[in-house]
Amino acid sequence: MTSIEPVPTVAIIGGGASGSLVAVQLLRQARRPLRVLLFERMTDVGRGVAYGTRCSAHLLNVPAGRMGAYPDQIDHFLKWVESRIGQPGFPAAVFPGDFLPRQIYGDYLRDVLTAARASAVPGVEFEEIKGEVIDIEGDADALRLRCGGGQVFAANRVVLAIGNLPGEYPIRSPQPIYHSQSYVHIPWSKGSLAGIPAEAEVLLVGAGLTAIDLVLELHVRGHTGTIHALSRRGLLPQVHRAAAPYRDFLAGQELPTTVLGLSQLLRGEIRRAKVSGIDWRPVLDSIRPYSQAIWQGLSWVERARFMRHVRPFWEAHRHRLAPPVAAQVEELRLAGRLKFYAGRLSHLVENQGAVEAKFRPRGTTEARTLRVVKVINCTGPRSDYSKYQHPLLVNLLARGLIDHDPLALGIRAAPHGEVMRYRGGTVGWLHTIGAPLKGDLWECTAMPEIRVQAESIAAQLLSRLTISLSA
Ligand SMILES: Cc1cc2nc3c(=O)[nH]c(=O)nc-3n(C[C@H](O)[C@H](O)[C@H](O)COP(=O)(O)OP(=O)(O)OC[C@H]3O[C@@H](n4cnc5c(N)ncnc54)[C@H](O)[C@@H]3O)c2cc1C
Repeated sequence: MTSIEPVPTVAIIGGGASGSLVAVQLLRQARRPLRVLLFERMTDVGRGVAYGTRCSAHLLNVPAGRMGAYPDQIDHFLKWVESRIGQPGFPAAVFPGDFLPRQIYGDYLRDVLTAARASAVPGVEFEEIKGEVIDIEGDADALRLRCGGGQVFAANRVVLAIGNLPGEYPIRSPQPIYHSQSYVHIPWSKGSLAGIPAEAEVLLVGAGLTAIDLVLELHVRGHTGTIHALSRRGLLPQVHRAAAPYRDFLAGQELPTTVLGLSQLLRGEIRRAKVSGIDWRPVLDSIRPYSQAIWQGLSWVERARFMRHVRPFWEAHRHRLAPPVAAQVEELRLAGRLKFYAGRLSHLVENQGAVEAKFRPRGTTEARTLRVVKVINCTGPRSDYSKYQHPLLVNLLARGLIDHDPLALGIRAAPHGEVMRYRGGTVGWLHTIGAPLKGDLWECTAMPEIRVQAESIAAQLLSRLTISLSA
């Protein structure tokens, strides 16, 4: 085991966009010696699930002009691309409203990290560690992070930047097919589309952004068979449309504290905007700076109501498709190669080399059967971190270091990501960022929110380290 170093050490678990940006902010903000350890179990650091794709048809769903890594330079990504125009892999021109390949964004995050390392003050060091953290032992200032391979690393503070959990099973009860090659549980896993014959029929369970990603990837691979996408309500993500920003209609207003109040407020404003010929999209986007405050103003009962009645519609309208992606989807749909269904899956059984998928179309009583060669689970991430059987989460839970929020939307945390103990106050040395904060912030998983969280977590960590280590 490495001995505890005199230089304060922050360990970041997870090298996706969130973990990388916390590292970047620590490297930028630290003025005294510091060690930053970034643990990543799988992909290249900086990419994570979203930007680790190798498929050039996978586009960002936020315009380039708003994807900058720093809260005070939201056009930083745009400028980075502009300075590389014409180079291999980069477009011939770029505009703020463009939706660029996510691969390019992964390269950008990597570059931002490299630049932050290079410009850190002497004594501020960074190390990437390829490994999976399975436990954290000890207490503040004498922590030991244990990796799956047996190595142990010392640290003073820890940031959980572990992203989303894999989705739930499409039928909750155990099904033999879940152990079969015909079923893919994690659509992002390597080789999830390998071995699918080009003309084969495929069932995607879910019709959100993940399903659309798979449709595009299958298309790029030359797939010609019918792709079926089944979701409970048959709601598809809406499409982005270029528009001028809407006025800040919530400025100075008391924010709604009920779901009914929120929906009345939004519907009213959308109606008013429509009268002036303005689309609903900029109206919805204009509340984004307030969305965390609105969420925090809702009681847990109201948040539960939102999850039950509003969430599917919110997701479909809030997380929209880039126009070129929507055009491609529509082309495939019109050609009959992509079919969407609304209904509940009831039966998935392998039979003579195919999978029989039975579902009950919404609003009907008669079951319908599809015969496909592959079923891919695109139901979106689960959020019950306290039930998911990953050794790190199980161990943290067993030590009472993490707890779930009342709706199990994430890990219970104070504002700014300080993790709360099971039925207690903050742990003190443990922070989290991104998806685990959904219960407390709701809107917290896209870059515009992550870059703000990363800056604030780094500032807090540094100020506390200075205070506690000099005390
Ligand atoms: C397909 C997709 C497309 C998206 N597109 C956009 C977009 O265009 N714009 C936008 O703003 N947002 C987008 N998002 C939202 C996206 O979630 C965030 O932008 C961001 O990528 C989240 O990064 P993260 O680091 O929090 O999570 P992740 O990307 O999930 O990264 C978490 C990392 O932690 C690692 N990890 C977990 N546990 C351990 C452990 N115990 N030890 C070591 N490593 C561990 C994982 O391997 C993973 O690499 C998209 C999301 C998805 C899924």
